[in-house]
Amino acid sequence: MEIPNLVEKLYNTHKKNIRRFPCHTNRASAIGSPCERQLVYMRVAWEQAELTSLTSQLIFDEGNEHERIVMRDLLESGVKVIEQQTAFKDDLTNTTGHLDAVIEIETVKDQVVVGIDHPPLEFKSCSPFIFDALARYGEDEYMKAMSEMGEDYSWLKKYPAQILLYCYAKASKYGIIIFKNKSNGQMKQFILNLEENMDYLSTIFEKAKRVNKAVALFYNTDGSKKFEVDSEDAKKLLPAKINDPVDCKYCDYNVLCNPDITFGNPLRVENNPIVEKAIDEHFLFNLYRKAYDKRNEFLKVACKDVDNVIVGKWHVAGKYNKNGAWLKKITIADEMKMLQIKEEEERIKKIIDSNK
Ligand code: SF4
Repeated sequence: MEIPNLVEKLYNTHKKNIRRFPCHTNRASAIGSPCERQLVYMRVAWEQAELTSLTSQLIFDEGNEHERIVMRDLLESGVKVIEQQTAFKDDLTNTTGHLDAVIEIETVKDQVVVGIDHPPLEFKSCSPFIFDALARYGEDEYMKAMSEMGEDYSWLKKYPAQILLYCYAKASKYGIIIFKNKSNGQMKQFILNLEENMDYLSTIFEKAKRVNKAVALFYNTDGSKKFEVDSEDAKKLLPAKINDPVDCKYCDYNVLCNPDITFGNPLRVENNPIVEKAIDEHFLFNLYRKAYDKRNEFLKVACKDVDNVIVGKWHVAGKYNKNGAWLKKITIADEMKMLQIKEEEERIKKIIDSNK
């Protein structure tokens, strides 16, 4: 019996999603890129973009599945979704996109509805590493989070422009972004205020207009191309290379662009068991530390006001310090101590019984 390789079959269905698409407008999801040359390439050389790897495609498809599930759960939770996957176009800057959703939020005061907002909602799924890093930012720190984390994960730099453009298109004072940890389903919400970020959005509009101008230089009035993008003429017209090690590394056009940069030292294999063991332990102890902190927090609550109690083999005691905080003390209960406590219990019980 010949058993088919099911994983191969599944992968083949994902491979069908690996395609390049013509791009004739600025994309809201890309216009936040710090490289205008890349944005011009997207328009004039989209067919030369590096094809997505199967690994990346699996990640994208997984993200789409998560988005579908969140949208379903959102509807089930009673949130009023008034638009889903709506196309957006800004004619002035020739920028297009798709809003994940627009929802309805009522402001209620003294049980009376005093206002209704329709903010755009953007959904992003992410790895557990990114999710954990996001946890240190407050709900209103989206710009800061994306800017700081974008230093390591360059695609995050593009996110704020997208939701701000949607806020602008929908004339909404704010937008909502939900991140979902793909490994455990945890979610985090950010709110981005349009008015506070109008200066940044203006730079995006200006950038989009510059890209449109640069793109126009590549075409004749009848729509035919004047020259190829890798020709000497084109090189004079393309915006400057940014030569950023992180942005260029993840850029789909780095082969075509050939940035003036080296992507780090060549990989080499080193046999160093002592360092390898130290790194293993470093990560292992870090896990223990996290587990310890979690248990300690639990015990702080569970043992509050618990004094002189035996729990299994442990003696739990504590007292208030001068600042009014309960200090727990947990020790192994030796037999003598257990005996003393039992005797004390018996003594008190007898007194109570004799007074009945
Ligand atoms: S490789 Fe770097 S400089 Fe070239 S288009 Fe991409 S991001 Fe810009």
